[in-house]
Amino acid sequence: MGDTTGAYWAHQQPEDPLSQKLRASNRALLALIEACCPEGDADVEYHAATLSIRLGLSRGKVLQLCEIGLMLRRMPRVAELARETEALGLSHLNIIANGTYAISDEQIHAVENHVIGLLTPTRPRQAMIGPRKLNTKIGDIVAEYDDRARGDGTIPQITTAESVTIAALPDGKYSQIIATLRNDRAHVVKQALDAAVTTLNNKRRAELAEQARESEASAPEKAPESAAESEGKDAPRATLADALIALIRQQTTADVVLNVYRSPDAGEAWLDGAGWLGALATAEWMREVTHLRLSGDGAAESYRPTDAQVARVRGRDGTCRFPGCEAPAHQCDLDHIKPYNHDAPEEGGPTDTENLHCLCRRHHNLKTHGLYNVTAYSDGTELWTSVDGTTAATSVPSGPMAGFGRQTFDQRLTRKTKARQKNYIDWLLSFSVSTIFVMDEEDEEDWDDEEDQADHDEPQN
Ligand SMILES: [Zn+2]
Repeated sequence: MGDTTGAYWAHQQPEDPLSQKLRASNRALLALIEACCPEGDADVEYHAATLSIRLGLSRGKVLQLCEIGLMLRRMPRVAELARETEALGLSHLNIIANGTYAISDEQIHAVENHVIGLLTPTRPRQAMIGPRKLNTKIGDIVAEYDDRARGDGTIPQITTAESVTIAALPDGKYSQIIATLRNDRAHVVKQALDAAVTTLNNKRRAELAEQARESEASAPEKAPESAAESEGKDAPRATLADALIALIRQQTTADVVLNVYRSPDAGEAWLDGAGWLGALATAEWMREVTHLRLSGDGAAESYRPTDAQVARVRGRDGTCRFPGCEAPAHQCDLDHIKPYNHDAPEEGGPTDTENLHCLCRRHHNLKTHGLYNVTAYSDGTELWTSVDGTTAATSVPSGPMAGFGRQTFDQRLTRKTKARQKNYIDWLLSFSVSTIFVMDEEDEEDWDDEEDQADHDEPQN
């Protein structure tokens, strides 16, 4: 850990009456958890039944409290941190308990160190680590210790957890398809479906325009009105279900470009939307890479960021930059922190990676409407302040190129990666999913073409 003097979570503001109430609630929760925690030899069902009556909570809820209590007993420093900071609520405690229960007694101490690291802010007023991120990071830690415990250097076959089930629903008319896929593979499916929806909608719109032109030719006296009508009226919107069927029937194509990030030191790759990939998935993706790019900071003359800038900023931010927001970068807009001035570009904020950041639509609107102001610092930290000045929080970038990067166990590797990042020689592997879905080879070539950049990246400001 670096120097964290003066660092605290944004919801630990001592003077804020709402923060005080939350901390009181967290404090009471901890006391309840400690009081509920059973001895190791207690009968589970008897204990749960008794607590359930006394607390008026379901069996599931009281067992959840018990499991958190057992976790805090196994990790006394996490318990101490929870008591001292009063910053951990039920959802965070639950994630830690669920994520670590399978860790052996020999390894729990080492794992506890990493959990403490995740729960320790590094900046004043830092936004609390979100539940999704905490869950993922604890999953990474546990997976790494599982690998060490196995100790034979084999790669776990995590794909065996994948499944696809199809079951008829009771109404007799519909069936449900449930696919459980590894994050990166699910991400590919979602991106392909989204792309196919766009293709289908474009096709339908073109067909309607064509029909309008034909009716114009056959009935010229009525034409101007009907043509205007068809163009103004949106074509029927294709659904994800339509896209799925069309892709399976090969009636449409889905062009998807995905960026996979990997340090030149190798190690695990990162995919926007799926996170860190693990050894097996990294190996799979590396075989599919079609383009390589070295990534660095840079400026562009235009309002629109270049492909390289988009990839850089997404890889740096990882998620929306509003404090605590966990919307993945690929779903975010690229926003000019200091607004771009269309009339006098030299007077406004530049299209520079240091003046660009990821914002989800909701938080982009908050900023655009002036309800929140943001100040960006050279270390990548952002300070967000509400319009009435009462609320402020700090957010830090969390993508693979964030500079402080992922918490790995191998400090040597981390240091090496950091040194490389300073020299701006991160690798960014541009990857086209052309093997799964049919796509034009020409489109693939266009990826590096500035003209073709980021149709789906609509920066505002
Ligand atoms: Zn957001």
